[in-house]
Amino acid sequence: MDRRPSRVRLVGPVVVILGLIAALVTFVVTPWAGEPQPEVDVAPTVLDRSATAASFPPPPPTPPATPIARRPVVALDAGHGGPDDDLPRADRSGRLLPWYREGDNSGAIFRSNGGSELREKDLTLRLALATADLLEAEDVLVVVTRREDVPVNLERRDLNEDGKLDLVDELLARIDLINRSQADVLVSIHLNAHPSPSMRGTYANYASGRPFTRESIRLAVTLHQQVLRGIRELSPGAVDRGVEDDVEDDPTGRHLLLLGSRTARAPFETTMPGALIEPLFMTNPEDVELLRRADLLDAVARSLADGILEYLRES
Ligand SMILES: [Zn+2]
Repeated sequence: MDRRPSRVRLVGPVVVILGLIAALVTFVVTPWAGEPQPEVDVAPTVLDRSATAASFPPPPPTPPATPIARRPVVALDAGHGGPDDDLPRADRSGRLLPWYREGDNSGAIFRSNGGSELREKDLTLRLALATADLLEAEDVLVVVTRREDVPVNLERRDLNEDGKLDLVDELLARIDLINRSQADVLVSIHLNAHPSPSMRGTYANYASGRPFTRESIRLAVTLHQQVLRGIRELSPGAVDRGVEDDVEDDPTGRHLLLLGSRTARAPFETTMPGALIEPLFMTNPEDVELLRRADLLDAVARSLADGILEYLRES
């Protein structure tokens, strides 16, 4: 029976009754009749005219086309932290780096004429924790590599089994923690230093040669743009130092351990896109003046959170 021609002329109550009949046909008759079911077309039309859903068989279950999105997980690495027994104060060529302190993982230290110190490890921790708060407010799960002035390799594990405990083990402890957190993305926060005090500005790194280098570049560029914009709102003259592959200048051409592929000295590697951001320099007087400002640090944290959220939205 084709109901369609007559249905056009019907009004509400009649349609509800028709719908009930249709439901009965579907529930009771069809299983035994084994005939084609034109009523399948009737049901949605009647439902539109406010018959109750209970009048009809439930719709077939929708196959799970897309899995429920899980909350993104972001790993924030607060660069440096705690003491370190084996941190050299010289670079590989033996050149002394005066902004480091031997046996200490403060990162770069700026010493004012009055004798006070501004330490990279304190600033990276403050930035990481402030960024974490902002991301958590947006329902992002955040893992911070440290929440205090401590090394991450607190258990002093010789993670590359080379018989000594050094900065490589500290970085491997961070990689291990970040991988176990199953983070979708890694952002490592540092502040820059350079022998020339005139060197200043906002700089970001990614590692080439990783399976997710495209994503890492997008992350580094997004963070760099956001952080530079944030700093320039308070200091229009802030300098752009660009975004680069993190290969070191020395002949080894090695990547930074945290972002790069595994090597002989680092037997495992991070497993997600990552970028390292250096918002300003600890060795430039203008940048240091900015780093002393609470509103500047808040703006950088806001920019980091905005950049990470922008990256996640487009992933
Ligand atoms: Zn650093």
